[in-house]
Formats: sequence, structure tokens, C-alpha cells
Amino acid sequence: MGKSNLKIPKICEQCGKPFEAKTVATRFCSPYCVDKSGKERRRQEKESERRQTLLEQAADKIAEIQTRPYISIAEATVLFGISKDTIRRLIKANKIPAVNLGQRLTRVSRSHIEAMFTVVTLLETPEVVPQKLRYEKYECYDIAEVSEKFGVSPSTVNKTIRRNSIPRRQFGKFVYVPKEQIDRIFSSKNILA
Ligand SMILES: [Zn+2]
Repeated sequence: MGKSNLKIPKICEQCGKPFEAKTVATRFCSPYCVDKSGKERRRQEKESERRQTLLEQAADKIAEIQTRPYISIAEATVLFGISKDTIRRLIKANKIPAVNLGQRLTRVSRSHIEAMFTVVTLLETPEVVPQKLRYEKYECYDIAEVSEKFGVSPSTVNKTIRRNSIPRRQFGKFVYVPKEQIDRIFSSKNILA
């Protein structure tokens, strides 16, 4: 493209003022607006990166809480979406084991709160909403292992998995299910085989 003497009326994308552009591709009225637009874009990119990092940190934090057997009351509110008062009431009523390591240092058993949620969900709605948790292979049983461990037929295993909406993952030709959820369901009396 050579130089042209065209004068195309345009609106500057940065400052919004009308100007005469020399090419159809010109977007800004002045070097000043070109520079400002670049800075603005980089600022927005930085801002969205910052938000992404915050989101990832929050996800990491929750994932980390999920690996600990004992968690703080504040962490329990984040993980289970229930109030501190509710948790304190449950502790007082001896519904969840807790240890008090000092002022504001109460730790509660995560698996017990989880188990309470499971029972409530099973009683209220047989069709449990699938949990979108990601399990690695080492955290899972295959169907034959579940069948062997709990002495039930593979078809009962499959039925229970479906009924409780336990997340399944396929590795090769085997279907894998999370140990922690299987252990909880198969060892509770809520199993409906
Ligand atoms: Zn401008």
C-alpha cells in the first residue's frame, strides 16, 4: 500500500472525537490516542489476569481445605456454605467432633460435616445432583474393586453409583469412582441396593 491523499472521516476509538484518517485502517486521531489506547488495553489485560489469579487462588484454597481432616470454623463456612452459628450449634450438640486448640482455634472434622450433608441429601432427594469434583486415578476404585471390597455384585455397584450420582471417570476400558464417596455410601446404612 502506497501513500494516499485520502481523507476519510472517522471517530477516534480512544477519545471519541471526529478526525480525518489517511487510511481505512486508522483507528485513532493522534499518536497520543494510539499510546493511550495501548496503555488502556494493557491495563485491562493486567486487571483480568489479576482476577484470574484471585479465582485460582480461591480454588486452590478450597482444594487445600478439602484435603485436611480438621478445618477451622471459618473454613467450614466457606466449604459448606453454612453459618458459624450453625457449626457451633452442631458442635455443642455433639453432632460433629471438634477440638479446641485455644481461643478462635476450634477445629472441626470435615468428613463428619460432609457425612451429615450426604445423609440429608439422600433422605430428601434420591436423585442427588452430581458433584463436579475431579478425582485422580489413585483416589478411585474400579467397579470390580468396589464389588470385591463390599461383597456386592457389579450390577448393584453400578445401580448404587447411578442412584447416588457418584461421579464416574473412564481410564482406558475401566470405569473409576472416587474411593471417599464409595466408602461413605457403602459403609452407611443408607445404601439402597
Ligand atoms: Zn483521539
